[in-house]
Amino acid sequence: MPHKTRHYVKTRQVMVGDIPLGGDAPCVVQSMLSVSPEDVEENLHQIARLKDAGCEIVRIAIPKREYLHVFERICKESELPVVADVHFDHIIALEAAQRGAAKLRINPGNIGGLQKTELVFEAARAAGIPIRIGVNAGSLDTNIAKRTDISISEKLALSARQYVDFAHEVGFNDIVVSAKAHDVPTTIEAYRLIKKDMPQIPLHIGITEAGTLLQGVVKSAAGLGILLYEGIGDTLRISLTDDPVQEVRASWMLLNALNIRKRGPEIISCPTCGRCNVDLISMAQEVEERISHINKPLRVAVMGCAVNGPGEAKDADIGVASADGYGIIFKHGKAFRRANEKDIVSALVQEIENM
Ligand code: SF4
Repeated sequence: MPHKTRHYVKTRQVMVGDIPLGGDAPCVVQSMLSVSPEDVEENLHQIARLKDAGCEIVRIAIPKREYLHVFERICKESELPVVADVHFDHIIALEAAQRGAAKLRINPGNIGGLQKTELVFEAARAAGIPIRIGVNAGSLDTNIAKRTDISISEKLALSARQYVDFAHEVGFNDIVVSAKAHDVPTTIEAYRLIKKDMPQIPLHIGITEAGTLLQGVVKSAAGLGILLYEGIGDTLRISLTDDPVQEVRASWMLLNALNIRKRGPEIISCPTCGRCNVDLISMAQEVEERISHINKPLRVAVMGCAVNGPGEAKDADIGVASADGYGIIFKHGKAFRRANEKDIVSALVQEIENM
């Protein structure tokens, strides 16, 4: 369990298809489809890849009404619950609710006013699905956006509060909230304010437009890591300018690193130094790739020398330490097999697959 520096009341659970979100449920990993919204097969293929990587909910943008029939087919055949992401046109949201969406994602700030937002709430209620109210720093309600007396984080929190109040006024309670900015401290502060103000509302956390792989992972890990460590966040999406499978892998690495949820191998590898006589970078990358299909939580060490390696990685379930021309495979710091240098990776992978 994460060390929670703050203790909050449990959030109100909603169901996204068969996935519980909030309450006692573990933090849910989600991602967004990035292929053409016109192509059913491509979307289903991407959903299957995301599911294999550990994704639990997928979101798809529906930019035009003419894509609704494709959306309907994707929902019917998808292996994961599908969230309809709708901007500007509330009719798309109403239709998506009827055509198999497991959840809607709208921003009331751009859906065309509260009257239309209320219609979307009614459609979701009729379909028995929740809605994520997603406020973004870039698309705040104009009355809030123009205020100069409060920070962007406060504007995000205030905006979220107003829409949640409105949902409750019209009797719609199956709500999830997100409040994203691309600036990490702004996002952290916004979520903290929302959590303090509305502790019962499940939160979808993310850093928006986080960037390409390395920068995006660093920004997301910094922002979401702090929030998760404080006990904030019922579902997360790491958004990257990359293959969405990387978003899912990064999400799991973050949850693993914080001991919040465990899935798949965690690689413990040394940075190398003058004692290392092998190409450890390639070796560690190859091991990571070849065991990426394994779902079982496992700590795998790939260390550059036999002098310090096994000792430094003794909390690993299994690992290898390279020596001159060979590798020593060890379990919990105890050596049990040797392999020639060219066979090190295969031998390690074989042992891991037998575990
Ligand atoms: Fe250097 Fe060996 Fe430590 Fe790797 S495990 S950093 S090679 S001393």
